[in-house]
Amino acid sequence: MNMTPENHQLIEDLSIANRILYLEGVVDGFGHISARDAQDTTRFWIAKSMAPALVTPSDILQCDLEGVVHDPQNRTCYVERFIHSEIYRARPDVQAIVHSHSMSVIPFGVTSQRLRPICHMSGFLGSHTPIYEIRQTIGETSDLLITSQALGRSLAQSLGAHTVALMRGHGSVAVGVSIAQVVYRAIYTELNAKLQLESMKIGNIEFLTDGEAQATAVMNDQHLKRPWELWKQKALQLPQLL
Ligand code: MN
Repeated sequence: MNMTPENHQLIEDLSIANRILYLEGVVDGFGHISARDAQDTTRFWIAKSMAPALVTPSDILQCDLEGVVHDPQNRTCYVERFIHSEIYRARPDVQAIVHSHSMSVIPFGVTSQRLRPICHMSGFLGSHTPIYEIRQTIGETSDLLITSQALGRSLAQSLGAHTVALMRGHGSVAVGVSIAQVVYRAIYTELNAKLQLESMKIGNIEFLTDGEAQATAVMNDQHLKRPWELWKQKALQLPQLL
């Protein structure tokens, strides 16, 4: 295990990110966030199998792209770690991943209503958010969870080059080039879904154009530190951290 200063910082940020995602309503007892190792691109860090809000740095372990856990303490990792391993394999640009069951997103994975960027904070969604259909890989009697490399690979294929993919009847996955960016994206995917559901009650929605989505995403990426510091301060007030 390579515990460089970069990885030490990564694990600290990952621990805080777990709590942030809980406080911002993205994860509950379920869901997870990972970050690719700062040196070894074939490894990533993720918590052992536990509720995200309770994660501390000592709960974070290392996994490889086969989904094999490398933990001196031999602890159990999430059964859905293959979401992470296969997306890291398929997307060399991705440095951090969030998987959640955040509730407002679910309707857009099970209806013909597409999730689209409704405001300037969610331009990163772009013009299309793919929906992963697990039945195409494993048939109609699965538990909907990504519990194998084959399922992880098909999810990664569905995600393609996008920032977010919905998982029909299950949840969603967001990817980013940093922990701060993926946390931002996971939070604003949920908020966008909430706003879209609210707006649908009132009338026809004017979504961002593709150009507006792109421009706002570029702008917001330059200011990730501001919300990150706020979310971090809130998370630090939870007990038992670090
Ligand atoms: Mn899940």
